[in-house]
Amino acid sequence: MMQRLSEEFKEIYFVQGQMNGRYPYSHSLLIGDYLIDTGISSKRVRSLRKKYTINNVISSHYHEDHISGNRLLKNARFLSHAKDKPIIEDVTKLSINYAILNTPAEELFQPFMDVFGLQNTKIDKTIEDNEIIDIGENLKLKIIHAPGHTAGHCCFYELNTKIAFLADIDLSRFPFYGCIDSNLIDFEESIEKLKNLDIEIAISGHKGIYKGVRQIKNELDAYLSRIRERDEKILSNFSENNSIKIEDLLKKNIIYKHYSKIEKEYEFIAEKIMIQKHFQKFLKNKLIMPKNGGYILR
Ligand SMILES: [Zn+2]
Repeated sequence: MMQRLSEEFKEIYFVQGQMNGRYPYSHSLLIGDYLIDTGISSKRVRSLRKKYTINNVISSHYHEDHISGNRLLKNARFLSHAKDKPIIEDVTKLSINYAILNTPAEELFQPFMDVFGLQNTKIDKTIEDNEIIDIGENLKLKIIHAPGHTAGHCCFYELNTKIAFLADIDLSRFPFYGCIDSNLIDFEESIEKLKNLDIEIAISGHKGIYKGVRQIKNELDAYLSRIRERDEKILSNFSENNSIKIEDLLKKNIIYKHYSKIEKEYEFIAEKIMIQKHFQKFLKNKLIMPKNGGYILR
C-alpha cells in the first residue's frame, strides 16, 4: 500500500488507493505529517493512521472520491483552497455542483455517498497558489492552484525532491471538467503550468506513479491532446450558415465514447456541461459567434 518515493528524503510516500485508485477511490501522498487526499478507502485510512502520525490533511479538491476518509481523521487540521472549501464543509452541495439536483442521476449518486459515509469537514486553513508549506526539517511543499477540474483544485510540488501530486489532472484517457464550477480554459492553463515545472515523479490521483521529467511532460501533452481531439470533434459540427445549439449535440457520444447502462443519466448531464465548456472556450477564442439562438463559425 505504501511506497517510499525518495531515498534521500524518507518521509514522502505514495499511498495506493483501493482498486488501484479507480473511482470511487483515489491515491494519496503522505509527506511528513501531511496527508494529501483521503479517498484510499476507509480501511486503508484506518491502517495508515495506526502506523503514521497525520496531523494535517490537505484536500486537493472537493470531489467525494478524494475526501471520503476525512471523517476518520477528526483530530487533524484540515486544509483546502478557499474555492472548494464551502462544498467540503457542506457535502449536500455536491449535487448542485454535479448539476444532478432533482434529476434521475441524483438517485444514482446516493449509493456512492452511502458507501463513502461522506461527512462534512470543517476546513481549518485555506491554501493559496504559490504558498510553501514547510514540513519537517527539509521538505517544502508548494501549492499550485490548478483550477479547471473544480474551481479550487490544487496540485502540489515538493521543491527538494521535485515530486508532484497532480490529483485529478490525472493523465487518464478522460480529462474531466463536467461540474458547474469546472472551466476548460483554466483546465488547459493548469496543465500548461505543470508542463513548466521539472517534475521527477508525478502522482496522478487515479493512475498512480509516473517517473522522469521528459516522460511526464509527454504525458501532460498527451492529456492536452485528448482535450484538443474533443475540440475538433465538436467544432466539426459547426458551419458558417446553420446555427448549432448545445441541444443538437447531446447524447451523441461526443465526450463519452459509450454510455454505461447504469450511469447514463449522469453521463448525459456531465457530457452536456463539458460540451458547454468547449462552447465557452470557442466563444472566447472567437471561433464561433451567436446566430439565431445558436452558434455559427466566424
Ligand atoms: Zn475530481
